[in-house]
Amino acid sequence: MSSVYYDYSTFSDGRTFTEIYQNFNQLENLNIIEKLWGSYYYYMGNDLFATGLLFFLTHELFYFGRCLPWAIIDRIPYFRRWKIQDEKIPSDIEQWECLKSVLTSHFLVEAFPIWFFHPLCQKIGISYQVPFPKLPDMLLQWAVFFVLEDTWHYWFHRGLHYGVFYKYIHKQHHRYAAPFGLAAEYAHPIEVALLGLGTVGIPIVWCLITGNLHLFTVSIWIILRLFQAVDSHSGYEFPWSLHNFLPFWAGADHHDEHHHYFIGGYSSSFRWWDYVLGTEAGPKGKKLREDRYKKQI
Ligand SMILES: [Zn+2]
Ligand SMILES: [Zn+2]
Repeated sequence: MSSVYYDYSTFSDGRTFTEIYQNFNQLENLNIIEKLWGSYYYYMGNDLFATGLLFFLTHELFYFGRCLPWAIIDRIPYFRRWKIQDEKIPSDIEQWECLKSVLTSHFLVEAFPIWFFHPLCQKIGISYQVPFPKLPDMLLQWAVFFVLEDTWHYWFHRGLHYGVFYKYIHKQHHRYAAPFGLAAEYAHPIEVALLGLGTVGIPIVWCLITGNLHLFTVSIWIILRLFQAVDSHSGYEFPWSLHNFLPFWAGADHHDEHHHYFIGGYSSSFRWWDYVLGTEAGPKGKKLREDRYKKQI
């Protein structure tokens, strides 16, 4: 029996997902997502397996689901006007090779540790029960995770560009000088683990310090981070791209330059670390540094 809810006394017998959902639907203190979440755990009947499967499917569904529109856009010449490196459209063979490698990595490298996530959550007190925490709590945590992950990513990614680390680990990710969505997770397993630790480890440390974190918050955070990673590799800069409205958001414009010029532009979500430390990539970065220097003298 799942521990996803504390009181099943009002529940009638039910085995199918629909019957279970009807039971949860009678609980007036839950919203629709909480009812679905509760029904899923109850239906699975094994919380460890339910969390493992949920995280694995979330990763697959949202990663490839987010890559798909970019793969379609690459095939429509109309969108070429917004392609950052417009002469470099990934070939079918390149995309196929990349897909095979990413899938292998998901099944061999990532599928395994995901099953340890539920026991870890229980040990450190990440809750998975319904109802969920209040929205302001979750918003604050997502904002903190974005800022801290970006910092983690900046320093470790910058480190990965150093000599031997680049040669033996990070070079794989730089195979595509003009990135495309699917290339976001095309990387050496050590890099996947190291940079992935920023995404998964930061919420764990947050929970160890504050004792306040829910698995739903972590799931949404991972989805947002996947979207950020795929979009920044998309290779497209639109007039409606987020960084045009939020100047400190990195986006594809920032990360495409990194793949194009190899040096500079090390952060993931924001531009402030590269700005403050003068590591913006390419001619745009050079111009920014020159302008700043001229202002100082
Ligand atoms: Zn790099
Ligand atoms: Zn990249």
